[in-house]
Amino acid sequence: MSSAAFDVQAWLQEEVNHLGVPDASDSSLAAHLLAKDPLADLRNQFEYPKNATLPDVDQSLVDPSADSIYLCGNSLGLMPKATRRIMNEQLDKWAQVGVFGHLSQPVPWAHGDECAVDGVAKLVGADPVEVTLMNGLTVNIHILLTAFYTPTAQRHKILLESRAFPSDHYAIESQIRLKGFDPATSMVCMSPREGEETLRTEDIVKYIEEEGDSIAVVFFSGIQYFTGQLFDMETITRAGQAKDCFVGWDLAHAFANVPLKLHEWNVDFACWCSYKYGCTGAGGLAGAFVHERFKDDKRERMLGWWSHKMSTRFNMDNVLDLDEGAAGYRISNPPVHLVVPVIGFLETVKGVEMEDLRRRSYKLTGYLEYLIDHFFGASSSARVSNKISCQSITPKEIDQRGCQLSLKFNVSIDRIYKELVKRGVAVDKRYPYIIRVAPVHLYNSFIDIRRFVDVLIESVRIVEKEL
Ligand SMILES: *Cc1c(COP(=O)(O)O)cnc(C)c1O
Repeated sequence: MSSAAFDVQAWLQEEVNHLGVPDASDSSLAAHLLAKDPLADLRNQFEYPKNATLPDVDQSLVDPSADSIYLCGNSLGLMPKATRRIMNEQLDKWAQVGVFGHLSQPVPWAHGDECAVDGVAKLVGADPVEVTLMNGLTVNIHILLTAFYTPTAQRHKILLESRAFPSDHYAIESQIRLKGFDPATSMVCMSPREGEETLRTEDIVKYIEEEGDSIAVVFFSGIQYFTGQLFDMETITRAGQAKDCFVGWDLAHAFANVPLKLHEWNVDFACWCSYKYGCTGAGGLAGAFVHERFKDDKRERMLGWWSHKMSTRFNMDNVLDLDEGAAGYRISNPPVHLVVPVIGFLETVKGVEMEDLRRRSYKLTGYLEYLIDHFFGASSSARVSNKISCQSITPKEIDQRGCQLSLKFNVSIDRIYKELVKRGVAVDKRYPYIIRVAPVHLYNSFIDIRRFVDVLIESVRIVEKEL
């Protein structure tokens, strides 16, 4: 990956000088950064939850009519306002024309997924023939591994991360068993070095160089859900392919979070869910990428009527005419109620470049990291507590992370988390020590970050007294 094109420290220092405050911990900085933020208005395109409507908020501690502090878009993205309107149009259409809706505008249901393919392909850096929208993420892992994982006695292993998301781990275990192999000998889970939280690219590449002849598929996540580490997909893909392995990526935490260039990186296959940064709602329509090199490849796979080319699909002659590229991996007809939120999201981000969102993301996450180090760093002179500290386990290098920081506390987060929730904070907890915080470039603001840090200071002070 190219070295980072943005210097967070220099940018913060410049803003501090501009405002004439002592340092970036000054509470007036957030409003200053907001005023200069060219993409701040994007937030208004989303439904942003208020304190009054979040569960478990103690309304006596907050202003109920104020925005909550929603930093959990890594788990479930917020709803684009456009989605409700487009969904209502489709419900009205169903009510009015029934089965004729399959072919009538807008969004003819029989082509629903295809209406969103161009926009999604752009987000992942792919040609439309390389992308399809279908199913859920784990289902797509199964579909792609069914086709690309064809183990032999010599080459039967799948290489993945030791802390892969459970669903990926189970999918791979079962794929290995389904093909008559044993996860104990065919599943290789790579751990970080002793005392380190994240994997080093050099270690992954070295392992592939040494063991690649026995590896059928390398399957990592683009961004590690727990640590927030962004892998060097281009380098790892090249290393795997040099040893004749297929290289696939789970982009659950990378899709719409960081710019992707799947085609250019020559990735073999990839899949993602869309409800995290893609803001399509719980269980939203997932995606899959199969490189153009496999466009006319007829490898065995799981088939259904939607794998058949549209032009002859309805001849119903039971002679398969396989669709081109990723579209030939479809099985069922597309679920319009899941297609609509993808369209709603694409409409919301239309005209905004992923590169500009990424630049905003560097700033939001960089600001959060600065404040965390300043107020909670174990060696910071400004630390708010002598007993409670935390530090980010996410890589410091901005080209090795997305928007999320995973904060590791030196005490159980149980009580701190409860105090945060009471004050209108939505973040993700991983007991016993980790809170994952995701300032999302689409709808979070510098003010959200400052408010979060202020509430964390208050919560830590309360919990400290109990220790
Ligand atoms: C969120 C996530 C999933 C969820 O899988 P679903 O099939 O959408 O339920 C799977 N894998 C990873 C890496 C994830 O981050």
